[in-house]
Amino acid sequence: MTDRQTDAGVRDDVWIPTACDMCYNVCTVQVHRVNGVAVKIEGIPEAPPNYGKVCAKGNAGLMNLYNPNRITNPLVRTNPQKGIGVEPKWRQITWDEAMDLLVERLRAARLKDPRSLVAATFDRCSYFVLRAFMAAFGSPNATNTSAGFFCGNGVHPVAFTLTGSNDVHPDLKFCDYLLIFGSSHGFVAQQNAMGLAREMAEARTRGMKLVVVDPVCSYAASKADEWIPIRPGTDTAFALSLMNVLVNELGLYDIPYLKKYTNSTYLLRPDGHYLRDPKDGSPLVWDALNGRAGALDAVEPMNAALEGSFKLEGVEAEPAFQLFKKHLRSYPPERASEITTIPAETIRRVARELVEAARLGATIRIDGHDFPFRPAAACWYRGISAHKHGMLNGMSVAQINLLIGAVDVPGGLINSAAAGPDWRPKEGPDGLLVPGNPFTNTHLAPVPPRKVKQPESLELVEAARLGATIRMDGHDFPFRPAAACWYRGIS
Ligand code: SF4
Repeated sequence: MTDRQTDAGVRDDVWIPTACDMCYNVCTVQVHRVNGVAVKIEGIPEAPPNYGKVCAKGNAGLMNLYNPNRITNPLVRTNPQKGIGVEPKWRQITWDEAMDLLVERLRAARLKDPRSLVAATFDRCSYFVLRAFMAAFGSPNATNTSAGFFCGNGVHPVAFTLTGSNDVHPDLKFCDYLLIFGSSHGFVAQQNAMGLAREMAEARTRGMKLVVVDPVCSYAASKADEWIPIRPGTDTAFALSLMNVLVNELGLYDIPYLKKYTNSTYLLRPDGHYLRDPKDGSPLVWDALNGRAGALDAVEPMNAALEGSFKLEGVEAEPAFQLFKKHLRSYPPERASEITTIPAETIRRVARELVEAARLGATIRIDGHDFPFRPAAACWYRGISAHKHGMLNGMSVAQINLLIGAVDVPGGLINSAAAGPDWRPKEGPDGLLVPGNPFTNTHLAPVPPRKVKQPESLELVEAARLGATIRMDGHDFPFRPAAACWYRGIS
């Protein structure tokens, strides 16, 4: 920081590098301060993650700072009555009074039962401090998510389950065909909104085709090569139908990927459970080369059958992929069209465009390493989460990427997670990924679990293991919370 005196009487004229706090993206910015007054906010050229770009809201940070109605002191509600139209009767108090009030409430909660304090935050940075405070207080009931309803309910559990990660992003650097469901990814939305806007602009300039499936002509839809309007909440029908075209009409999907990296070859009993090796419980697959069933690790993945029906242990067992394929048949484009309002020929055309763009079997050399090259992806976000069965919508869109092998390879859907010591996904007992990332909360277990167990708490997530709901750390919760601390939470 430098101060300078000019003839014009300017004593202070500095650009201060800082971070925008107007949303959780925390873009890098610099603020121009003249004589103690912040007069302008700009990006810092080429500084990640937003590379010098600042959105309208970030630019409006000055209005927030100097808003005459900005609340700068604690307020206490004095009217115990609550309801629509009921005046809260806020009274301004000092910070000391606010602190006394908090201490009084926290002391009462601690005397009653320390676990009766519940804390939630959506702020990933403060979570660890909050958690330390809660540990010192004696309550395990701290969570780094929200009370249940937030943008990623149909996204994160899918990422936890399919790739042991936390989030999904198309690889805009190499993608040639992007299908977006219910999201304005790359159009000043989602994480790293400004950085993604730049990546999207560069991908479009490079020639990437963008197709947006959305009931409304969103920012992304209005700028896309093609907007496909859809009846709200019917994305699953479209996704399943698109996959039906790939699998049952075109017969185009990434067989090596499915065999090597998914449980498509696992044999299922008629009751839906894995057929297991009686010796060690390992899932069985059908070894098509040797004409017999074998434990997962004993069969070369490319020899395992994706299709067929096999009489084993007195039951008719089928690979998971065959059952999936049969299920897809119940979504012919004509039926999906009635559900979604999308014309059947559009579903068939998009399926063909997507798989042709995916270049099944292609590889690419980057920095001396060869990778599978799948420059096509389907991504989704809050729009399809904000409906009944939102997570299933996310699952079905995610599976499009699995079918074409566009997962964690150049051009496809990249799964991302916070990095930390020992946070990598691990192999679970059935060969499936187990997230190692602590942000996945209750999802640090393989899905489906090898053993079904009794719920250990009253949380909803115990009933639906994939739900991204508030976590109470598996402790008994036989009382109403005495106090709840929501720090930037979405309650
Ligand atoms: S996206 Fe906009 S509001 Fe959010 S941190 Fe960046 S500049 Fe600020």
